[in-house]
Amino acid sequence: MQLTKQQIDYCMECGVCTGSCPISHELPTFSPRQMIKRTLVDVEKDVLQSRDIWACLSCSRCSDRCPVGIDFPEFIRSYRQKAIEVGNLPSESHQGVFQTVSNIQAGGLQQDKTGWAKDAGKISEKGDYFFFVGCAPYHNIVFQYLDLNMIDSAKDVLVLLNKLGVEPVVSNEERCCGHDAFWSGKEELFATLAKKNVEVIKASGAKTVIFLCPEGYSTFKEHYPQVVGELGFDIVHITEFLADKLGDQQFTGSGEPVTFHDPCRLGRRCGMYEQPRDLINLVPGTELKEMANNRENAVCCGTTAWMECSSCSKTMQIQRLQEAKEAGAKTLLTACPKCQVHLTCAKSNTDIDVEVKDLYAYLVENL
Ligand code: SF4
Ligand code: SF4
Repeated sequence: MQLTKQQIDYCMECGVCTGSCPISHELPTFSPRQMIKRTLVDVEKDVLQSRDIWACLSCSRCSDRCPVGIDFPEFIRSYRQKAIEVGNLPSESHQGVFQTVSNIQAGGLQQDKTGWAKDAGKISEKGDYFFFVGCAPYHNIVFQYLDLNMIDSAKDVLVLLNKLGVEPVVSNEERCCGHDAFWSGKEELFATLAKKNVEVIKASGAKTVIFLCPEGYSTFKEHYPQVVGELGFDIVHITEFLADKLGDQQFTGSGEPVTFHDPCRLGRRCGMYEQPRDLINLVPGTELKEMANNRENAVCCGTTAWMECSSCSKTMQIQRLQEAKEAGAKTLLTACPKCQVHLTCAKSNTDIDVEVKDLYAYLVENL
């Protein structure tokens, strides 16, 4: 990614990004501004060899505020493939299981990605709507140790879609969206997954793809066109879809003080701040308490692409739970599977009295 001379000149005197970065806050040796400077001085012997290249969460808190429009997460990502080529690899979480799953899905894998749907609701093989379920069937197996049934989120979304008369296509052929491959510098793997997914969706006849996971949505929206050109179908995030249509449904009251954790992909990267809040406000009596850092100022859940989970991640997660508590919430609602996992994991090691709950579970419980 090339910066203009004007951007570079401004950048060397600035530092807004470093002041905004949650990693720099916890790890003062990491500075996005310094990383830019370092790439101008020595890429080969410094940046490509450095652990710092993997530290950025791609949370976009810095780029959202950059006065000269430098997309730092994309800037640093663009060096990651070269870092892998010289043997500088990220530290993979959960023994690399999700990286393995993603790699396997690039081939001719036979998957059962629809088994969960049989008891949950009605699905179709062909039709106007394709429900892109994402990695929930795989997450479901790995995160049982946290007492999380990650597939419940997909089940709840299916219940909500059926309630609106939508019986979406759910496919065994759907692959990982490639989000993690993209942000980990595995560009060939990303392109393979993107092409396979687009083929599968086109073959289903769907005109609109509905995403549960903000990462899948932002990846299709922002990065698929770079490798597949025009998608040939519409994409919509489930919060947007439901916020438009669920208003007529009858919700029962909860009276519960809740807060909402904006996922980086849904919020800063795709600009959807109000849709999840509109959904929460459909539940009568809900008191929506905002955390001090909300909407464009929200702080990331602490890790991305299942890599580099560190004490820094844990500190960020615990601070986020504390923020929810300080806001007066009893429940922190998430709309991203990974945020749910990361915040639940952090909570399991603290006595902070805030329940972490999936937004769609909250809606279905009160429907
Ligand atoms: S905010 Fe933008 S201009 Fe300022 S130091 Fe960071 S990247 Fe450079
Ligand atoms: S994207 Fe997030 S983690 Fe990365 S440098 Fe910017 S603020 Fe820091």
